[in-house]
Amino acid sequence: PPVGNLPSLKILLAGPRGFCAGVDRAIKIVEEAIRRYGAPVYVRHEIVHNRFVVESLERQGAVFVEELDEVPDDAPVVFSAHGVPKAVPAEASRRKLFYLDATCPLVSKVHREAEQHFARGRHMLLIGHAGHPEVVGTMGQLPEGTVTLIEDAAQARTAPVPSGLPLAFITQTTLSVDDTADIVAALRERFPDIHAPAKEDICYATTNRQAAVKAIANRADLMVVVGAPNSSNSLRLVEVAERAGCPRAVMVQRGRDLDLSLAEGVSTIGITAGASAPEVLVEEVLTRLRERFSLLIEEVVVAEETITFKLPAALVTEPAR
Ligand code: SF4
Repeated sequence: PPVGNLPSLKILLAGPRGFCAGVDRAIKIVEEAIRRYGAPVYVRHEIVHNRFVVESLERQGAVFVEELDEVPDDAPVVFSAHGVPKAVPAEASRRKLFYLDATCPLVSKVHREAEQHFARGRHMLLIGHAGHPEVVGTMGQLPEGTVTLIEDAAQARTAPVPSGLPLAFITQTTLSVDDTADIVAALRERFPDIHAPAKEDICYATTNRQAAVKAIANRADLMVVVGAPNSSNSLRLVEVAERAGCPRAVMVQRGRDLDLSLAEGVSTIGITAGASAPEVLVEEVLTRLRERFSLLIEEVVVAEETITFKLPAALVTEPAR
C-alpha cells in the first residue's frame, strides 16, 4: 500500500546478485593481511573492480598501486582477484617481497588449463576483452605469441592463427554466456578439431547473475545494475538485461548516482549487482528510490550459491608473534 502520498513502485531483485566467492575471498585476504602484518599492506591493482570496496580497504590501511615497482621492499603485497602475468610473482620473488595472491581460484583454473594446452603443443585462442586485467594475466601465463585473443565472432572467423598446430580455446571468466556461445560456434565451424575446456571457463557467478537478470528482464521497465564501468561482469549484466527484453538498463556505482527521473512513469524496476558490488550499495539504491516511491519488493531467485574459497595457507596458520 502507498506510504503517505508516495506512488508505489514494484521492485524485482535479481537473485543471485552481488558478491561472488572469489571477490569475498580477495577482500578477506587484504583485511586479514592488514590485521596480521599491520598497515600498510600494498595491493597491486584494484583488489576487485569497485570504488566503494577499494576506499573502505584504504581506510583500513591498504595502499593500491598499479605496478610492483611502487611497492617498498619491506611491505606485504596482495595481487588482485583478476590474476597476474607470471612475470609479476617472479619479480616479487626476485625482490624477496612477501606476497599474497588473491587471484580467484576459478581464474587460476583457467591459467592451469592454458599451461596444460601449452605443454601439449597447442596454440591457444583466448576469448576475452583486450586490456582487461584478467586477460592480461591469463595471456601472461605463457610465452608471447602462443595465445591469440579473440574478442568477437567476427575475429573468431578471421583472426590469423599459426598453421599446423593443434588448437584449443579458453575464455575469460566474466563474459556474456550468449555471446561466448556464438563465438565458440564460429570457432568450431572454422576449426572442427579445436579443444574445448572440460568445463566452461565462464564462472558460476557470472552464469547465475546473467540467468537471474534474464528471469526478470521482461517484467521490468528499467533495470538498474549496481556495478563499476571497469567491471566486466557488471557491464555484461546491462547488455543481458536489454537483450532479454528490458527497455532500458543503466549502471550505477552508488545509490546517489541513480537519476530518479528515470523511475518516473515506470511501474517496475529490476535491480541486480555485479560480482564485485557489495549488497550495501543495493540497499543505497533502494533507499534512494524510497525518497519518491513506496516500494513493493519481490526477490526472484534462480539459483542458490553455497560455494566458498579458502584463504591462502599463510593467512590460515597462526602468525608468529
Ligand atoms: Fe571468481 Fe567468478 Fe567471482 Fe571472478 S566473478 S572472482 S571468476 S567467482
